Amino acid sequence: MRVEVIEPHGFCSGVKGAVEKARRALSAGGPVWCLHELVHNKTVVGELKGLGMRFVESLSDVPDGGTILFSAHGVPPRVRAQAAARGMRVIDATCPFVARAHRQVQEFAARGVPIVVVGDAGHVEVVGLVGEYEDTSGLDGLKGLRVVKDAGEVEALPFPADRPVGVVCQTTLSSGTVDRVLSALRARYPRLIAPPAAETCTATRDRQAAVRMFVLAGDPSVTGVLVIGSATSANTARLAEIAREAGATAWRVDGTDELSSCDFNGIERLGLTAGASTPEAIVMDVLSNLSIGKVK
Ligand code: SF4
Repeated sequence: MRVEVIEPHGFCSGVKGAVEKARRALSAGGPVWCLHELVHNKTVVGELKGLGMRFVESLSDVPDGGTILFSAHGVPPRVRAQAAARGMRVIDATCPFVARAHRQVQEFAARGVPIVVVGDAGHVEVVGLVGEYEDTSGLDGLKGLRVVKDAGEVEALPFPADRPVGVVCQTTLSSGTVDRVLSALRARYPRLIAPPAAETCTATRDRQAAVRMFVLAGDPSVTGVLVIGSATSANTARLAEIAREAGATAWRVDGTDELSSCDFNGIERLGLTAGASTPEAIVMDVLSNLSIGKVK
């Protein structure tokens, strides 16, 4: 079996920036709390815990005046307001691509344009975008915003077809899914407004395109793609999906410990890739175990 590392893979600029901010905050001394997982990777979160980071799911678990780190996935205005009101020192690690989507939601909400968010309603990034809409518009619930996860949900949207409708998307979706949803939205809403925030981020797109190209450059029936990343990472899951859609066999593992769950029988070429929150050291560790034949 020939093993090849697919480029680009692994850490993106948003994750790098967030991890650097976290390390700097911890090295400055004093307790630091992080709202939600900083990035969706077990190893990164475990290392930061080891350095003293305290992960919480709510600001109510942080004392007044404490130092709070907002994760790469973004937070709605109400969370910023609560932190300010309680005298917290805020370190904001929101990825610039996520911040761009928040600004776009604000703009649509301020203009009264109904919004479609393409994404997974339960993902913390999408929860943040919905909160941004509610806090900006002052409207309860999802009055002028709907979340759709695939093209099949477009037909059921309640917005009139003759109105302008704005769209933004979760940064880490499959680019194929986003294209299909945008096509369905354009067919239903001729006045659709699709700004740059209606696309996945550059890192997501580049990593997905590289996986697709790797699979299609050979015979997909003897091609495998091993994706390294945590089960909670949306972009990691998408990489495996894209490899399968292109015809390859794909596996996801957190690291070398889980390699024994992969059956590489019949695979002649194996591509190695990693989610945007996977440290390079883990990729290299998996590669060396595969290369020296510790895993058959
Ligand atoms: S995957 Fe994209 S949106 Fe998420 S942190 Fe990385 S660059 Fe930012």
